[in-house]
Amino acid sequence: MPKLTIEQLDLRDKRVFLRADLNAPLEGGAVSDDTRLTAVVPTIRLALDRGAAVVLASHLGRPKGTRDPKFSLKPVAERMASLLGRPVPLAPDCVGPDTVTLAKGVTGGQLLLLENLRFHPEEEANDDGFARELAALADCYVNDAFAAAHRAHASIEAITHHLQPAAAGLLMRSELVALGRILEAPQRPLVAILGGAKVSDKVALVEHLLERVNALVIGGGMAFTFLHALGHGVGRSLLEADRVETARRVLESARRRGVQVVLPIDAVVAAGLDAPSGRTVGIRDIPGDQMGLDIGPRTVERFDGVITTAGTVVWNGPMGVFEKAPFAAGTLGVARAVAAAPAFSVIGGGDTVAAVNQAGVAERIGYISTAGGAFLEFLEGRTLPGVEALTEAPR
Ligand code: AMP
Repeated sequence: MPKLTIEQLDLRDKRVFLRADLNAPLEGGAVSDDTRLTAVVPTIRLALDRGAAVVLASHLGRPKGTRDPKFSLKPVAERMASLLGRPVPLAPDCVGPDTVTLAKGVTGGQLLLLENLRFHPEEEANDDGFARELAALADCYVNDAFAAAHRAHASIEAITHHLQPAAAGLLMRSELVALGRILEAPQRPLVAILGGAKVSDKVALVEHLLERVNALVIGGGMAFTFLHALGHGVGRSLLEADRVETARRVLESARRRGVQVVLPIDAVVAAGLDAPSGRTVGIRDIPGDQMGLDIGPRTVERFDGVITTAGTVVWNGPMGVFEKAPFAAGTLGVARAVAAAPAFSVIGGGDTVAAVNQAGVAERIGYISTAGGAFLEFLEGRTLPGVEALTEAPR
């Protein structure tokens, strides 16, 4: 781990600014899925156990720089209090004199949650003055918000210019280690499974992965642009006409590099997304008036064959419109195949995590990332501002 981690900090009687991603979904004024909250609990506990005063901060939703009570962190404070088994007081704001007084009043082993960082437009603007105000609340900085690390926001990037040392939390470290294993010296063969709607969203990812993987398995809506590039008729399936050339280039580059590209050989087709059921056809037989909405069973078997022989698997994106029951089988089948494979598996992205949970196989996945956008940008080989800003580990 090239970056300083929280375990290397002397935390006794220190006030720690802990940036977390507590951006959990809410329903009826309560947190409806606390995955992101439970993921930072180990870091909070470690800091408190080591005698630090913890000033916890996060964004929630998109309040667009205004104070919108709909996006208050109050429900998060309540759920966090029950997860930690201790009170989690919520400051009325994340900056300002009242917040400063409250933060200074927190002593070793205690916690204060700041109100939504995005109530201030300066947060997303990476404003230096705002970052300075946040920095004044603590003696050192810990970032455990990997899911937000692709954002150069004030509490993620600018704050580190005023608050040092800046260390990775335990979740940030786990994410960097697990995802790092994909790009650096993975157990081979390395197999990437990509799905989801569009080629255009994944071009950078595909191009970066092509230089590293042994096999690229492509499902979901994006597969049809590749199939079209190979001369198949795809009916009314999702097709990005302006990406056919890109798909052709990818296929050619894969061939040159000896990367196996595995595409669907059958599909579940229907007249539209709201069809009550679908029909399986061979990939050459998609009727002109139908759309491919899932991979078929023979494709699942074919993908399974590749996944089973992998040393490392990375997966992002559903294989079909898995939100609709008639088109979920392909995605669930791939989830089961990834879980059953002896490979070290890493998955990321909201849909993919939901699919693995729906298939009931989450426990058998090597690592489940809490990130979507940051997960993809990391695998694209991009530098994440929130990681870059952390202090280098001592040699
Ligand atoms: P993405 O955000 O790009 O990962 O795409 C996820 C979305 O792709 C999901 O909402 C799926 O319903 C959708 N999707 C997957 N396969 C297909 C397909 N064959 N046709 C249309 N949409 C699809």
